Order: sequence, then C-alpha cells, then structure tokens
Amino acid sequence: MRRNKIGITYERGYEVSKSNGKAISTFFGEDTFSLKVMQERLPKAVYKKTLTAIQEDLPLDLDTADAVANAMKDWAIEKGATHYAHWFQPMTGITAEKHDAFAEPDGPGRVIELFSAKQLVQGEPDASSFPSGGIRSTFEARGYTAWDMSSPAFIRRNGLGITLCIPSAFISYTGEALDKKTPLLKSDRAVNKSSMRMLKLLGNHTSKKVNSNCGPEQEYFLIDKDYYYKRQDLTLAGRAVIGAPPAKGQELEDQYFGSIKERIQSYMHDVEQVLYSLGIPAKTRHNEVAPSQFEIAPVYEAANLAADHNQLLMDTLKTVAKRHNLSLLLHEKPFAGINGSGKHLNWSISTDDGINLLNPGKTPHDNIQFLIFLTATIKAVFENADLLRASVASSGNDHRLGANEAPPAIISVFLGSQLLSILEDIEAGNISKATDKEIIDLGLSALPILSKDNTDRNRTSPFAFTGNKFEFRAVGSEQSIAFPATVLNTIVADAIDKLADKIEANKGSDINKVVIEVIRGELKEIKAVIFNGDGYSEAWHTEAEKRGLPNLRTTPEALEALISEKALSLFEKYGVLSRVELKSRFYIRNERYIRNIDIEVKCLINMTQTQILPAAIGYQSGLAKSIARVTSVLGSEPAAQKEMLKELSETISAVKSGLDKLSEIFKAAADIHDETKKAKFYSTDLLPAMNSVRSSIDSLEGMVDDEKWPLPKYWEMLFIS
Ligand code: ADP
Ligand code: MG
Repeated sequence: MRRNKIGITYERGYEVSKSNGKAISTFFGEDTFSLKVMQERLPKAVYKKTLTAIQEDLPLDLDTADAVANAMKDWAIEKGATHYAHWFQPMTGITAEKHDAFAEPDGPGRVIELFSAKQLVQGEPDASSFPSGGIRSTFEARGYTAWDMSSPAFIRRNGLGITLCIPSAFISYTGEALDKKTPLLKSDRAVNKSSMRMLKLLGNHTSKKVNSNCGPEQEYFLIDKDYYYKRQDLTLAGRAVIGAPPAKGQELEDQYFGSIKERIQSYMHDVEQVLYSLGIPAKTRHNEVAPSQFEIAPVYEAANLAADHNQLLMDTLKTVAKRHNLSLLLHEKPFAGINGSGKHLNWSISTDDGINLLNPGKTPHDNIQFLIFLTATIKAVFENADLLRASVASSGNDHRLGANEAPPAIISVFLGSQLLSILEDIEAGNISKATDKEIIDLGLSALPILSKDNTDRNRTSPFAFTGNKFEFRAVGSEQSIAFPATVLNTIVADAIDKLADKIEANKGSDINKVVIEVIRGELKEIKAVIFNGDGYSEAWHTEAEKRGLPNLRTTPEALEALISEKALSLFEKYGVLSRVELKSRFYIRNERYIRNIDIEVKCLINMTQTQILPAAIGYQSGLAKSIARVTSVLGSEPAAQKEMLKELSETISAVKSGLDKLSEIFKAAADIHDETKKAKFYSTDLLPAMNSVRSSIDSLEGMVDDEKWPLPKYWEMLFIS
C-alpha cells in the first residue's frame, strides 16, 4: 500500500511549472527596490543623498526618507503589494516579519495607501516572544526594527500575498542588538577600520573603504513530501531519530555531480527564478555526495547582503519545495550514517576600488599586501580557533563536525603546499633583503592558478585557503552565516591591528623589509594552526593536542568560548557586541541546544511507544500464533520461527529497556535548572541514551515484516523521488 501510494505520488504528484523562457538578465532583481529603481524614481537630489548615505553608512534626513518611502510604496503597489513588513533576523536563526497594510482609513468607508518615512525607518514589532538571552526583562519587552539601507527592500510573493519587505536591524529600547544583522554590520566596520589602517601603512592612499565578502555554498536534502509527513521526527525535529542505513548509501559515488533528475532540476529551476527576481546571483547547482542531497551556490557579495540573501535562499528552497511535493531538509544531519550538509562560507576582504586583499598579485607591492593580510587571517584563527568553533556550534552540527565527512571540530588552516613552502622560506629567513625581486621570486603570482587545481584541495580542512579567499567549511547548513562571519571579521580586525602595531613600531626603514620581518616573527608562533594533512586521521587528533589546538567536540563545550574574558573584551573593544550582548548569544545558543534535543527526545519516545513497539508486538504476536498453529498441525515446534521469535522478543525487550532508561534520564534532566549544566548533561548522558534506543530499533527494522513497519525507510526516502 504504502509503496504503491508513493509510486502514484511520483507519477502525478508534481507539476512542472512552465519556464518563463526569459533571459535571466531581463528580470534579474525586478523584485528589488534597487539603486537602479531608485535612480529612475527619485528626484535627482534625493537619489544622490540616498546613494551617499548608503555608500558612506550615514543616516538619512527625514525629508529624504519621506521621498524614498513614497517612491518605494508606489513601486511596491505597482508590483501588487498590499502590505509592508520590516524583515529582520532575530536570534532564533530564522527571519521574522510583521505585516502592516498600506491602506489606512481616510474618512468614512474609504482608505488611502500611506507609507511614511517613519514607517520605513522604524518598526515596532511586539518583540516579547523573541529570544533576548536575558537582555530584556518582560516589562521592557519592546524592541524596534531599523531600516538597513545597505540591503535593498524587496517584494515577497507568498501564495496570493504580496508584501514589501524592508531589511532591518532589530534592537532593544536600551540599544542592545537583538539580532544577527547588527553585529555583522558592526564587524564589517571593524574590519574596515583595521584594514584601512594597514593599507595606509603599506602606502595605499587611494582605497577609501574595505568590506568583507561572503559566498555561502548551501547544501540540502530533498525528499518526497509524503514521506516527510509520515515521520514525526523529520517534521518536528528536522532529522530522522530512527532508521537503519540502506543497502546502498553513497559508496558508489554515483550521485556526486551526477546528472540531475528531472523532478529535481525542475525544482531547482523554479527556485532560481525566484532568486533571480530577488536579485540573488545563484550560480551553481549540482548533486551532492549523499543520495537526494544537492547544493546551490550564489556568487559572493558583501557580507551583509550575502547573509540576507542566504536567509532568503533557504526560505525559497523551503517554499518552492512544497509546490513540487517535496520537502526540504536543511538539518546538518538528517540521516545518520549518510553524509550531512554544511554551508561552506567563502570569505574575503576587499577595497571599494576592487582590490581583493587576499589575492596574491603580480607586483611585489600586491604580494606584500597579500602576505600581511594572509598572516593576519592565520593569526586570527590561531588565537581564536575556539571562537570560530563556537560560532558554528549547534546540536545539528555536532553530528557532522568530527564525523569523517565534514571538517573536524579542531579548527586548523589549510594553505596548500606551495603557499606553505613560501611561508616556510620567509620563516627560515631565506629572503634576506626583501627586495622587489626577491618578493617576486617567492612564486606568489602562480598561486591563484595553482589553488584552482583540485589536486591541491583538502576537503578535510575546516578553514582552507582557496586561491584568493578562505573557505570556512565548518558552518552548518541550517545556520545563518551572519554570526560566523561576524566572528571572522572581528578576530581578523584584531589580528590586523596587532600586526599594524608591530609594523608601526618599526616604521622608518624599508616597508617591505619591516613587513617580512613582522611576518617572520609571527609565523614562529602561529604556524601551529597550519595543517595541510588529513583532518580525519587519528594522528592529527594527537598532533593537534600536542600543538595545543582546542578540540571542542560538543556544543556545550564549544559555547563556553563565547563567555571567555578573551572573547568578551575582544568584541567589546571592537564595538561589535557588548559584554551583555555576547553573553546573551551564549545563553540563547545554549538554550537552543537544549530545546532542539528536547524535541528529538520527545519524538523518539513517542514514535517508539506509539509506532515502533506496537508494530513489533503485532508482528511478534503473529509469529507466536503461527508457531502454535504449525506445532498443532505438525506435532513438533518449528525451530526457525522459534529462533526468529526469540531474537525478536529480545530486541523488543532491548528497545523497551532502552526507552525506560532514556525516559528516566530525561526526567532527571528536567530537575537540572542550571541551563549550562543541563546542556552538558544532555551531551554526556541523554544523547548516548538516545543512540542506544535507536540502535535497538534499527535492528528491529531488519526483523519486522516490512508491511507492518510504520515509517518510511531510508532507502525509500533517499532513493525514490
Ligand atoms: P568551489 O569552492 O566549489 O571551487 P568557487 O571557487 O567557484 O567554488 O566558489 C565558491 C563560492 O566562493 C562562490 O560563492 C563564489 O562566489 C565564492 N567566492 C569566489 N571568490 C570569492 C571571494 N574573493 N570572496 C568570497 N567569496 C568568493
Ligand atoms: Mg567550495
């Protein structure tokens, strides 16, 4: 039955929407209130003022904002929008929006569409239910949203609803950031300030601004919606807490980069149409390693925009899936035993006049600049590996980091052999005079080409240099990139400043020589974090420990880095997060870890009790009846069936006793009121108890009559689509 039904789903259950047949360039960004639209619709003077405000990070005066609001409203209404919403990113990990209609009463029985500067610039959602990590007590629960001019407003189409969305920051009335955007914007300012200082030291007097860039590669799973809704664990917790590995997994490697199935390709097409109209530069799409796993990557953008766009992308992936009768799984590890999903965060910093500071160039000047920013990044990771680990810590990602598929929980830097040998030459003092010729001879100019070569790639490294950018690979597929990018920007800003201090202290002599000497001095210490080898190997774990690199395996351990004095003072110093704000992130993430696991445990207990055990007992009873009947007919007991019944009964007992133990531990956990201790207890006691129940159930799956098994199995979910 079950299988037939799914078969029908596959045949008829999805519609291939008609391609609009238009070239992307003709509709790219048509649903955004872009600079181009502003230029067309705003009076010249207003446009100029707005542009300057956006580019120079300045506030807008009320009259100008009024003109912008008016133009935005007219544009949105022409697009069919009835409502507007401040769109923001509270610390829940997803986005939030509260819609207000443009229409307002204007005399009896009449309305008029209004949208003022005040409504554009500031919103007041009832924010008391958003997590604040203790920043607000409920009596001062209100927060406000503030328009972020650097990310264009856009039109969101959801079923029949069309809404103008205004990207916004979310702040408490006492001024604390309650969201992910605000600290990201501040960290970008920190990187700007430190980098500009460094560039001036290096003699660059033309660049005016530096910003960080992000290109997130998004992995995801798709399964048929019918399967999804048949599983409480997938629907509520996002991952299968039960399920035996299928006969075929990913061993044949026939999925990776394989030809994309029609149904999936149609889905991808629909997703991309939405992304393009939202001005999101989706670039690559392909099958990933695991069955039913895929990837989409846009072209990189300024960090703040990239973070907004990644949120919109995840949202689009989810909503479009429903139209195709598919369900999207963004969880880092939906299926134990099968590769999980990550989000490689490609990161770099560049100037307003187009210089990528992590790009080795052709001139000695470019290369000195490259080497110092490269060293700063390595130094940042060396000094703050724990913080980077904390920035990606979540219950979902714990299943992935450290498994032999994703980077390990030990954060190290991969440079590739060429670059490493160049740094080793510098460290050994082999370039003695640091003349232009010597710097050219280092061989840096060949690097971008070499790094593009896949043979020099190391997929096991959590933080890899890939030609002209770093790739932070430990980020989880479900996570916002905002916080990891915030941490990266802040620690790099700090490292740049420390190097700039040293360069300044030796100023006066030849700048090349000073820079090379500073790098040489640094390398001695920071090279401990450089590792080009196999991050999965046991030898690396031992070696990393010897080198003093942290190996924080679980979220509760990792999160502590957020409240270390080092972190608190660093974020405070750069004005990215106050002590209170950073601590609130710690509390919220710790709490989320607990809540996520709570849901998983409840699903597991409920499914075991109401689905698995009844199915197994039903089969057991059938088997027992059959034995009795066979015995009465033949006069002797059927040995094979008895053996099966015995094994089945033992496994049922194992499931039941595992379940009792799990429930007991879960109850004990409820009495722990210190949330930090509770999270630790979850990782040390509760998770192993869950795994133990699961493994008994997974054995049961191999014994019970397939017709009676109440859940879609891995092979069905992963291979039928
Ligand atoms: P892969 O790493 O799979 O080879 P690419 O190198 O093409 O793929 O890039 C992956 C992602 O990195 C894309 O989103 C791309 O736009 C982004 N990227 C490329 N250059 C930079 C850069 N300088 N800064 C940040 N991201 C970048
Ligand atoms: Mg990549």
